[in-house]
Amino acid sequence: MRKRVFSGARPTGRQHIGNYVGAIQNYVALQDEYDCVYCIVDIHALTTLGNTESIREDTHEMVLDWLAAGIDPQRSIIFVQSHVPQVMELHTLFSMVTPLGWLLRVPTFKEKVKMQPDNVNYGLVGYPVLMTADIALYKGEVVPVGEDQLPHLELAREIVRRFNSLFGVVFPEPQAKLTNFPLVLGLDGVQKMSKSYDNHIEISASPQEVSKRVMTAVTDPARRYRSDPGHPEICNVFRLHNFFTEARVEEIGSECRSAGIGCVDCKKILAESINSNLKPFRERRASLASKPGYVGQVLADGADRAEAIAKDTIREVKERMKLLQRTDLERLR
Ligand code: SF4
Repeated sequence: MRKRVFSGARPTGRQHIGNYVGAIQNYVALQDEYDCVYCIVDIHALTTLGNTESIREDTHEMVLDWLAAGIDPQRSIIFVQSHVPQVMELHTLFSMVTPLGWLLRVPTFKEKVKMQPDNVNYGLVGYPVLMTADIALYKGEVVPVGEDQLPHLELAREIVRRFNSLFGVVFPEPQAKLTNFPLVLGLDGVQKMSKSYDNHIEISASPQEVSKRVMTAVTDPARRYRSDPGHPEICNVFRLHNFFTEARVEEIGSECRSAGIGCVDCKKILAESINSNLKPFRERRASLASKPGYVGQVLADGADRAEAIAKDTIREVKERMKLLQRTDLERLR
């Protein structure tokens, strides 16, 4: 029997090439080995969002990108966190077995407090409990994580372990599937690629937009004239060639070092490579976007399938916690 993978991602709208070569391609590959549950965690987004104006649109655009990239709704469950309200229930029940000290020690909580001192909300403290509920509700056994997320997963394992020791084993302890998410720097060559830094290239961008964006990329700052030899190892355009122009990467590196190629031409090659890599994706996206209501159908079906699992889990949890369930009432009358 295949193990179940759970992974959640915040609704961040149209995805960029950093998301694509990291999380999305990994999501697609995991489908071959696992039963995958992929969730757009819109409630988590509320812990840091001041403005919720774009959540609906962002969710739609993100799911369209996921589907066009190859996440298959027949094989995987794709749904929106808030469409399965049982996660809020499990979050509350887990909050009763989670010592507050565990949550206050979480490094990302401390960072968020510094980043948003005027919005230290209760949800921010409880974030790891909700994350645990996300995974446990679907009895997720495997969670793909980067090394930086390991402490969060360890906390989830501790909460699950504590619940199991108090009430009997209901949940598997989720295992980390350490995934080498490549760090893709943005076009500024300094920050991680991100919409918020405006240093990104959207995977759904037109070929012209891709070329325009690539031309703005910062290169080796020591290379001021075309005749200066370059240092590809410190150039972010070169790093991007590693993902998109794999077959020619050595040639480009040595041409750069010998000043055989200029940065403008090098960027043109990169733009062409990104565009040819993304061509099938763009065609699929356009085709899916032309089907009225398609994303809605996928998410409705995903929510139904996810909720069926969630209802069973909640029933089992309440049974173990000895709560009087509505289904018991008949017997009481
Ligand atoms: Fe970077 Fe290419 Fe210019 Fe070399 S030639 S510095 S790899 S952009």
